[in-house]
Amino acid sequence: MSALTSLALPHVAGLHAYTPGLQPTEPGWVKLNTNEFPYPPSPRVAEALREELGEAGAVLRLYPNPKSQPLRAAIAACHGEGLSEGNVCVGNGSDDILNLLIRAFCTRASLAGFTLPSYSLYPVLVGIQDGGTEAIHFDRSMRLPVERIQASSASAFFLTSPNAPTGVGFGNAELARVLAGYRGLLVVDEAYAPFADENALSLLARHPNLVVVRTLSKAYALAGIRVGYALAHPEIIEVLDRVRDSYNVNRLSQVAALAALGDQTYYDRVIARVKATRDQGVRALGEGRGWFTYRSQANFIFTEPKNGRGESGPAVAKSAYDFLSGHKVLVRHFPSHALTASFLRISVGTEAEMRVLSETFDTWLKNSHG
Ligand SMILES: *Cc1c(COP(=O)(O)O)cnc(C)c1O
Repeated sequence: MSALTSLALPHVAGLHAYTPGLQPTEPGWVKLNTNEFPYPPSPRVAEALREELGEAGAVLRLYPNPKSQPLRAAIAACHGEGLSEGNVCVGNGSDDILNLLIRAFCTRASLAGFTLPSYSLYPVLVGIQDGGTEAIHFDRSMRLPVERIQASSASAFFLTSPNAPTGVGFGNAELARVLAGYRGLLVVDEAYAPFADENALSLLARHPNLVVVRTLSKAYALAGIRVGYALAHPEIIEVLDRVRDSYNVNRLSQVAALAALGDQTYYDRVIARVKATRDQGVRALGEGRGWFTYRSQANFIFTEPKNGRGESGPAVAKSAYDFLSGHKVLVRHFPSHALTASFLRISVGTEAEMRVLSETFDTWLKNSHG
């Protein structure tokens, strides 16, 4: 460790940064690796941004609304469920919200719980705070380990639903069972809920220890604008407001998010299209190719490729990943966990992108006998 690094706090000196999916800069890639939305955002978003900026962007001289107040009100109104502004905190992406939750609720003594596999950012955020973690492992069925979460000693438990990278969704009946026994803060990270059959919003009214986290990055085609939010009891929202940056969401992001939420008709249509492409993709890989593929409730597909000899496993998944990358088709491979290493996670793209993916798998199969 260099002398300068050792000036940092000991736990920081030992940290590893989160590894985001590749963002290639040259054109020509079929990019199915970071679960971005394949279609553009509502046209109202660009219109609203142009209007906000005007000719000279003079409004950028001014600080944004510190609480994103109009956006909190719009979010509450668009979800209904008796929610009001006091139930909403907006963040610079939902990653910001997850960070605030960990900052406010987790330390060495107050553990952060999560399942494995799930969103791999949670332990990274806990590490930054020098906090302690408790991991609960799925088995290959990927069914929710309800009793083990109920019995968890964690102060806050982070549950990704639908889960990542599997795409498996958890029903409200199961979540209600978890909530019936778990006394800590249950954070349900619903980044992919708009693609799912069910979501946890209706449980909020009865369970003050439930936090639902949403993002506009996936289903609203706004990953580049960085807006996410928490829905929770007003006392929890107040705690989050104590630990966030006072101007955590910039002016243009607030305007873009408001415009997007105002055009639900547009999003209903394009989300339905992504779901149809997803279901077709799951059938093509599962029934079509005979590859084990989880039923997806998200905008990605988790599948276990078989090579030309009918074999699967970590080396086969790696071979498929490398072959796809060599043909400028980018997906995601998670080799570090036994339940994910033999799978690929494929974001649902346009119909044309999914055809290129399928043709490239065909070519890989023809080349994978040797
Ligand atoms: C993508 C993703 C996020 C991050 O969303 P941002 O709003 O872009 O920060 C959070 N949770 C899960 C499970 C995700 O997949």
